[in-house]
Amino acid sequence: MTVDHSHRIWDPVHECLARPDLERLQLERLQATLQRVYHRVPCYQEKFRQAGISPDDIRSLGDLARLPFTTKEDLRCNYPYGMFAVPMRDVVRIHSSSGTTGKPTVVGYSRNDLNTWSELVARFMTAAGVSADDIVHIAFGYGLFTGAFGLHYGAEKVGATVIPISGGNTDRQIMIMEDYRSSVLVCTPSYALTIADRIERQGHSRAASSLRVGLFGAEPWSEEMRREIEQRLGIIATDNYGLSEVMGPGIAGECLERRGMHIFEDHFIAEVIDPDTGEVLPPGTVGELVLTTLTKEAIPVIRYRTRDITRLSYERCSCGRTLARMEKTRGRSDDMLIIKGVNVFPTQIEEVLFQVEGCEPHYQLVVDRVDNIDTLEVLVEVNESIFFDEMKKQRAFIDLVEKRLASTLNVGARVRLVEPASMPRHEGKAQRVIDKRKR
Ligand SMILES: [Zn+2]
Repeated sequence: MTVDHSHRIWDPVHECLARPDLERLQLERLQATLQRVYHRVPCYQEKFRQAGISPDDIRSLGDLARLPFTTKEDLRCNYPYGMFAVPMRDVVRIHSSSGTTGKPTVVGYSRNDLNTWSELVARFMTAAGVSADDIVHIAFGYGLFTGAFGLHYGAEKVGATVIPISGGNTDRQIMIMEDYRSSVLVCTPSYALTIADRIERQGHSRAASSLRVGLFGAEPWSEEMRREIEQRLGIIATDNYGLSEVMGPGIAGECLERRGMHIFEDHFIAEVIDPDTGEVLPPGTVGELVLTTLTKEAIPVIRYRTRDITRLSYERCSCGRTLARMEKTRGRSDDMLIIKGVNVFPTQIEEVLFQVEGCEPHYQLVVDRVDNIDTLEVLVEVNESIFFDEMKKQRAFIDLVEKRLASTLNVGARVRLVEPASMPRHEGKAQRVIDKRKR
């Protein structure tokens, strides 16, 4: 007999708190966190002094907006351990960001931090319907990156069976997935598509797979991509959110309603600000997500600027959780391209491509500046239904995609078709943008 886990809540006491009770808890934890960082982290003491504020001035949640922000730059300037609020002997784990530019950022975890982390991952796994009956296939790379370990301990916490396969070697992934009867897939959404591609190319039937649920994260992805993954792998695809500077995965995750990710507000305060002015925006407005940790011991962060663009909803969710939800992120503001003065997110282009029959979900964006004018070229992989030998059909297809892109983006883009299966397939985070202007 199969048990329906779709309405289970991992920690009903904390996930269903009445808002006044939640806010009381947040304020208590915030005040304690501020005292700790003020007395133990010189960078915060200095920041608060410069802002002319002391932890005792914060008497309500509304006062939070008076505190200065923390940025990735602060973590870099205090590399490696300057932001830690506990002595190294209390730190039991180190993780680090990928550090695509400059020095990476280093984060530490105390024993309690690791417990909290697995508890919070267990919350979103349970919300996605994962239970002790599942076999969880973790295809994130194990290492300094927080994704694999975060999901690993959360899955063990809910009692699931973990397969720590790590990234790479797609054929072996598929063999193990089928032989070991994996029911939950954990990876980036772009790798899920790579796996789907390979399964189809091998001519395997979907019936051979026991996959039921996907827990995808670590890169922004569109609703269209979700539908594509669900249809091709025959699973329910869910989104979750985290970033290593704040904790890693487990900051927010979707319930099966899949209308935004519940933020674990008893551990994090979420604000949305105008990225240009830093001003806090009213609920429901799109802006940059800012997070304050409430329980972290090793490296608490106050008003951390995530660069992720989203909006918050405080409407009650029918799953029973009272926690606010954040919309799927549109991408990091660092990923945003400015083309002829217009803001463009790669996920917007992805949405358009997924709606056009014949486009494969593999694409690349090439941005350049020619005679002082920005150009955007979209390389699109097409499937066999687009005949490369029929120029007229091909032209009509390009026109159609260009027209749709122009109306969505408000800026023109040139489309170039590439042969089926010619684009690079990704085993981790997808590299979709080549910005030649930065060279
Ligand atoms: Zn919900």
